[in-house]
Amino acid sequence: MKTAIASLILATATHAAPVTATESADLVLVHGHIKTPAGWAQALAVSKGVIVALGDEQAVGSYRGPKSRVVDLVGATVLPGLHDMHVHPIFAGITELQCKVPQGRSLAQAQKVIAACAARLSSGGWIVGGQWDASALGRVPDRAALDAVSNAHPALLNDTSGHSSWANTRALAIAGITRATSNPPGGIIERDAAGEPTGILRESAIELVSAHIPKPSAEAVRTALTWATHDMLSFGITSYTEASVGFVAGNDVELKAYAELADSGVLKQRATLCLTWAPNSADAEAAIAARNLYARPRVAPDCVKIFLDGVPTDGHTAAMLEPYVGGLSGRDDEASRKGLLLVKQDVLDAAVTRFDRMGLTVKFHAAGDAAVRAGLSAIAAARNSNGFSGLMHNVGHCTFVSPEDVARARGIGATFEVSPYLWSPSPISDDIASAVGPEVIKRVWPVRELIESGALVVPGSDWSVVPSVNPWIGMETLVTREVPGGGDRSFGKVEAISLPQAMDLFTANAARQERMSNRVGAIEIGMLADLIVVDQDPYAVPVTKVHDTKVRMTFIAGEKVYDSARVER
Ligand SMILES: [Zn+2]
Repeated sequence: MKTAIASLILATATHAAPVTATESADLVLVHGHIKTPAGWAQALAVSKGVIVALGDEQAVGSYRGPKSRVVDLVGATVLPGLHDMHVHPIFAGITELQCKVPQGRSLAQAQKVIAACAARLSSGGWIVGGQWDASALGRVPDRAALDAVSNAHPALLNDTSGHSSWANTRALAIAGITRATSNPPGGIIERDAAGEPTGILRESAIELVSAHIPKPSAEAVRTALTWATHDMLSFGITSYTEASVGFVAGNDVELKAYAELADSGVLKQRATLCLTWAPNSADAEAAIAARNLYARPRVAPDCVKIFLDGVPTDGHTAAMLEPYVGGLSGRDDEASRKGLLLVKQDVLDAAVTRFDRMGLTVKFHAAGDAAVRAGLSAIAAARNSNGFSGLMHNVGHCTFVSPEDVARARGIGATFEVSPYLWSPSPISDDIASAVGPEVIKRVWPVRELIESGALVVPGSDWSVVPSVNPWIGMETLVTREVPGGGDRSFGKVEAISLPQAMDLFTANAARQERMSNRVGAIEIGMLADLIVVDQDPYAVPVTKVHDTKVRMTFIAGEKVYDSARVER
């Protein structure tokens, strides 16, 4: 195998080398363990960001010149850069600066953290942050539990999914929410037996309160994005999709932050930006119309995000084909039984058809099987009207997908984006299991079925819905469906896949999703040198150690953008 690669390289070098004999490579990696589609190589050379030679030490020898930077890898493993197809970097960075209730905390522990946050604030300042979850708290919390520790500050704290929020009495008063306030479209104000708001807000009802919280400044957004960018580089993420621009500080400020950081060279990754759209949102239409003002060589604001439902946890906001198990106390509406579909099908079909015609890729948030079906139907409608545009419209999350929808995706050119970081047993998975019942939970996140259907499947962390953007956790748990490191509980075990399949999701598949598979996603001659050097060969270690893989160096187009030796972690 090695000889075959080397002779292939020599042939290429002799007959069609893009680099002349006098021009040496900018970067040469030697003595490595380099993963290529044709097997393992030992050395590679990069010129102008492109891999120009690949094979054994001899294959790159003639590319070494006085201006070449030569890195001796001492046997270290080299893999293609990783892609995260669903991440919220600005949200993650801002969350880092907010009141952080670490996931999985009990009510008493959460209250202690919140009290400490309140003590740090000046008078009238908002306590904002997250992330609580009902099963760790022991119950769905209420405003009294928050009033007790918020010391007259208004407070609004997200749950781990970001689809439910916990407000205190002061915050509800500022927003003018009383027993007389009706639920907004697509949202729920939870009420107690007497009809008083409990402080729990679901989906669009959160905005009734969050609209009153001062937005982070442009500078805070830049700081957040800078921090998140570096954090992702340290885990080997060389391309990503920002899954909802505008979520934290509004479209203008966030688009500007991406463009400015790209212009100043801080933003290194190839980033696709999804602009959040909802029916009748003038703000969304304005951002979509302005998108190309913010386009840069590595920033593509050419995706539109549409939320179709919520999450299949205690709030029952994911849209399901079959009813949830058990009711919600105090409620007997259709939404409490089967969840909420946030956009009507005819409106959705027209929107996706329009965006497809405009050359924009649509990403859906679709957790429940009814939402996945609605998204696929809208993609089918776009194909019917426009023919196949080549755009990889993707259905995101896919917590539940009915078998007939698994089967129809490939035929309509739809792709699936799945969330592997949520697959180990955890408070949120326990929540989901109790909401949908023991039968439905067996096929949760049906990634094996999705891959076997022949449709393209890609991964997204959904950070900071999950506490870390570390892709190695997702890679391992795609295979084990257990907690990182292994455990005696598992979640959706029949949907587990192999490690090579998991690796493909993060590299070659994601590159296809981004329509960049001609340039990135594999280490081959002619591809851009988006590479990572890691401290262990994930294919060779026990799978329960994959989560522990550490990135030593990250290269984008041959530029070293991260080096673990230069930072303290
Ligand atoms: Zn998300």
